[in-house]
Amino acid sequence: MIYDAASFSTYRHDFPMMAATNRGKPLVFLDSAASAQKPLAVINAMQQFYSQQYANIHRGIYEISESASHQFEQTRETVRQFIGAKKAEEIIFVSGTTAGINFIANTLSLGSDNRQAFKAGDEVILTEMEHHANIVPWYLLAKRIGIRLRVVPINDEGELDLAVYQSFFNDKTKLVAVSHVSNVLGTINPIKTMAEMAHHHNVPILVDGAQAAPHLPLNVTQLDVDFYTFSAHKLYGPTGIGVLYINERFLHDLPPYQGGGNMIRTVSFDEVTFAKPPHCFEAGTPSIASVIGLHAAINYLSTIGMDNVRAHELELLDYAETQLKSHPEITIYGRAKEKVGLLSFTLGAVHPHDIGTILDHAGIAVRAGHHCAMPLMERFKVPAMVRIAFGIYNNTADIDHFFQACESIKGMFQ
Ligand code: PLP
Repeated sequence: MIYDAASFSTYRHDFPMMAATNRGKPLVFLDSAASAQKPLAVINAMQQFYSQQYANIHRGIYEISESASHQFEQTRETVRQFIGAKKAEEIIFVSGTTAGINFIANTLSLGSDNRQAFKAGDEVILTEMEHHANIVPWYLLAKRIGIRLRVVPINDEGELDLAVYQSFFNDKTKLVAVSHVSNVLGTINPIKTMAEMAHHHNVPILVDGAQAAPHLPLNVTQLDVDFYTFSAHKLYGPTGIGVLYINERFLHDLPPYQGGGNMIRTVSFDEVTFAKPPHCFEAGTPSIASVIGLHAAINYLSTIGMDNVRAHELELLDYAETQLKSHPEITIYGRAKEKVGLLSFTLGAVHPHDIGTILDHAGIAVRAGHHCAMPLMERFKVPAMVRIAFGIYNNTADIDHFFQACESIKGMFQ
């Protein structure tokens, strides 16, 4: 499909929230990196499921339960295609990226028949640009077991230092855990190269794809990663659901993470036998309607085409960067060669929270704060930043509104 800028003005109408107001002003939504708005296709699919098709899955022997189970498993297949996995079994439904990372931290640290459990002195490689979701689970293991965290630094442009990354591997290295895209800098990390380097040392790699899946065409098989996780709510889908891809080479090697219904074959007080993957990793009743909503979101995105989503967001980024030239008082953090459509900045000496509040009163929704990336704030020696982040529905008029509001902020603080 060829990128056609005009069709994106039509897509905007697919999102009812684009007609909403904020503080009595027409909403200008520039916070898609926190959570994206939902198209009618998603809202309707979930409403239809709840009002006409709802039943629990994998249990009922009646028609609507069988149909719900079918739709649930169909979504697994749709996710498989969307991220280029080889098998549907490699797709595990979790509640989001945070849950996906905690899943891997907990199961890998336990070990299995073929793999040793993490022990004191083992090393996990992270980077300076990680979201707290990809720091705290490892910190907890560091406190509990005594593993050591090695942190790859970034340069002033916001790109990883791959020479340092390379130098970190040794016989204690047990895992690399890295974000595909930084939620603050927008940097797209060279995951394929990083996976190759990790595998060269026999080390698996976990990728936090929370900020990549909504913006880039994705193929986990080509990237050759071991684990990849993302959240539906940033992908124009519902909250409460996400995906953890487990490469088939690990699928039969990880112990069950949580125990409960749905994940077993037989249970007695003396012995439990487990269902096959992926079901042995999905204990309890999942967020069924959210899975249906995720299916609708992926179908919606696939109709547009992820190449087109990427082209649209790059066009907006380019437009915003051109406008920036006439705003020298704005400092941008993150100038990587490969970026997604987001910009984090400070404006003169004005505190980011004040900027966020003033923009809010102009109807403009942005994120202001530490962005769940405190080590990165420390790296750039700022307490906080403001972030604008683009989605399918944004247009150049949104960016114009934003820069006009910046002008008035400057006026207020001069
Ligand atoms: N990783 C990154 C890079 C993120 O941007 C976020 C959310 O902002 C997360 C992880 C956590 O995602 P969730 O809160 O959906 O689990």
